[in-house]
Amino acid sequence: MLANLSLNSAVKICVVAPNILQFRFPDSHHITMECDAACLADILTWKTDASGPEWAEMLRASDLDLDNGIAEDIVQSLQNICVLIESANKTKTLGEAIFMHAHLLTKSAKSSFEVPTINKVSIVGDGVVGNIVSEIVTQMSLGQSGCAQESEYKIIVSDSPAFGSIREVYKSSGEAKFKSVAWMDEGSFRIGPLHIKGESACFECFLSRTEATAHFFEEAVSFNRGKRGNERSLEIGLMEKNLIRFLIERHLRLVVNGQFNIIDPGTVESWNLLSGENSTVPVLRNPYCDCGAASGRPTKAIRDII
Ligand SMILES: [Zn+2]
Repeated sequence: MLANLSLNSAVKICVVAPNILQFRFPDSHHITMECDAACLADILTWKTDASGPEWAEMLRASDLDLDNGIAEDIVQSLQNICVLIESANKTKTLGEAIFMHAHLLTKSAKSSFEVPTINKVSIVGDGVVGNIVSEIVTQMSLGQSGCAQESEYKIIVSDSPAFGSIREVYKSSGEAKFKSVAWMDEGSFRIGPLHIKGESACFECFLSRTEATAHFFEEAVSFNRGKRGNERSLEIGLMEKNLIRFLIERHLRLVVNGQFNIIDPGTVESWNLLSGENSTVPVLRNPYCDCGAASGRPTKAIRDII
């Protein structure tokens, strides 16, 4: 059965001139076409839900004066550029619409490799960050399970950079297709590296790399491995919570949709509370780390595929 198509609510239609119509996309890539602009804009915005042949019939019956077959081609082209999308993919909020648009644009590229489905997320750890992750997992209708159970994605959470306990929890939480750590650091919230089993750097790789590149080696090792001194007594306030909420939801939506071209596995992303800036640090795999594939080489690099 043919899926019904609707106008993508993330796309704006702008009548530039009587014969010029522009589609404006949320990622700032715009497409301009020559046609009876007002007529096509009316058709696209008039009917909200119809099958492909019905859309083609509406175009044929209009004042656009189309030759045979052209109407079908236009409907197909509008689908290819995500102006018309399957009605089931319509969203309610601006954020959802933007993420759906990005997902649909790369859908055909992602069909060339297997994007694991995430049915269950394990949240390992507690505190404010853990509560926010739990709320968002529920909001996104993903299942939750304990860390000992099967889940495709394990996210280790901490309200402070207590690396001594984070690394213990990380190790004891067991394997999963995806794993990452989200923690509130001194002045920043950090998340990553998104570890794809056997393919990209893990949290241990991140710690060993930061030690290897530190100018002050003893201090770095003490901070990364110490069990005392990294805990914080200050509570996490509303501003911090809102930042964490945004970053966790963005992160989870990208992982669930397989948007590895944006999330870039093997990187740690940080957002600074004071400056408002974000930075991304690439983390190379440590070839001596246990997280590697049996051969010591990644079986494939997802980010090279897209
Ligand atoms: Zn590793």
